[in-house]
Amino acid sequence: MASPFSGVLQLTDLDDFIGPSQECIKPIKVEKKPGNAAAKIRIEDDGSYFQINQDGGSQKLEKAKITLNDCLACSGCVTSAESVLITQQSHKEVYKILKENKAEVPSQQKLVVVSVSPQSRASLAARFNLSIQETAQKLTAFFKQLGVHHVFDTTFSRNFSLLESQREFIQRFKRQKEEKKALPMLASACPGWICYAEKTHGSFIIPYISSTKSPQQVMGSLVKNHFAQEKNVKPSQICHVTVMPCYDKKLEASRQDFFNQEYETRDVDCVITTGEVLQMLEQEGISLCDVEPSPLDTLFSSVVEEEPYGHKGGGSGGYLEHIFRHAAQELFGVHVDEITYKPLKNKDFQEVTLEKDGKVLLQFALAYGFRNIQNLVQKLKRGRCSYHYVEVMACPSGCLNGGGQIRAEGEPSKVLLQRVEQLYDTARTETPEGNAGVEQLYEHWLGGRDSAKAKQALHTQYLAVEKMNTALNIKW
Ligand code: SF4
Repeated sequence: MASPFSGVLQLTDLDDFIGPSQECIKPIKVEKKPGNAAAKIRIEDDGSYFQINQDGGSQKLEKAKITLNDCLACSGCVTSAESVLITQQSHKEVYKILKENKAEVPSQQKLVVVSVSPQSRASLAARFNLSIQETAQKLTAFFKQLGVHHVFDTTFSRNFSLLESQREFIQRFKRQKEEKKALPMLASACPGWICYAEKTHGSFIIPYISSTKSPQQVMGSLVKNHFAQEKNVKPSQICHVTVMPCYDKKLEASRQDFFNQEYETRDVDCVITTGEVLQMLEQEGISLCDVEPSPLDTLFSSVVEEEPYGHKGGGSGGYLEHIFRHAAQELFGVHVDEITYKPLKNKDFQEVTLEKDGKVLLQFALAYGFRNIQNLVQKLKRGRCSYHYVEVMACPSGCLNGGGQIRAEGEPSKVLLQRVEQLYDTARTETPEGNAGVEQLYEHWLGGRDSAKAKQALHTQYLAVEKMNTALNIKW
């Protein structure tokens, strides 16, 4: 079984699927009483553990439960068997919530919101041979038939992520002389990369990483804050599910920073992958092709006359292109129309340069996949990184190739990926500045771009994870 997590989060040398890694802080908990000699453990044939007492008796030990939160706080493994780790974040949990809702009177039901990523939509479109628009409409209908109340699109929240990244870049560029680690600014939308950075390069790398929240977590703020207020319900009365192209997004949703202490609720309660949506369709015995389309929700979706819009710049969100164009214009008065990429060692490591009169004004790069990320970090550590911005993504080929996307059946995976990319690119594009709904929300919801509320809703922070000093420390 291949690990569903992105490459940077996998430990390939360990037998990681039998149980948690040997470094795991919670494989088994034994109460040690003072004066006792070393605790003795007996393992039964069925795999259960017994603690042997000094009087010869024994007691069965509770199985340790490992949640994604434990994994985020530990420098040992991240990815054990999915069934061990992911107890709260699965499509089964979605079914459970919908079932509980059906048993309640309407006033006691949770408001169920599903936010779909454009990468997942493209993967489903390729699987069912549908257009992006048909897929969006049929998926909306499918979720609503199950009892979901609203279906949104994270392209909308990505507008905020792009705008905030653009602004942050300009601010960092202007203070690069006083602040050594202001540049290069490293993208923050990929939780696989963030998790790796925090655990392996901690305080060295963190200052370089953009503080802007990913589209998933901006949507979390929108739904659990603005939408809850609009609907006059507590954030905890909303169940917010996202459909994402990777398992790493489950880790992101589980971060402490995205937990609302006051209402004891997460901004994103449950993340399901594109593959899990396919499993849900199979479980219902439905082909997406046969679902009657339903009108698209327009509140938090980039939709024009029933047509979902996207952004320029590739399947990982277009961060490099948007920031590059914006910075060229704002910092140097240069209008950039077409972006020309220069491939370096491979297609997942490319550069984009802005030159004027033979002088390099801006140099950006994209680095996808573990190999290229490692190269980038080494360059930074040796002081040989000349980039101003790097779009860092954990998956080779980026988000359209995420570990949670639908796998190829009867065709090479490269061919499927090409079809997914083509479908993704069929969506008409908008600029984040051009979305009137986003402008209004900055004003009415956030009270302006520089408000404390905007910072809280759209930015986050990172924490270096202390390395555990064991013989098994993994060298990345
Ligand atoms: Fe997920 Fe995209 Fe990062 Fe892959 S590159 S782990 S799909 S966010």
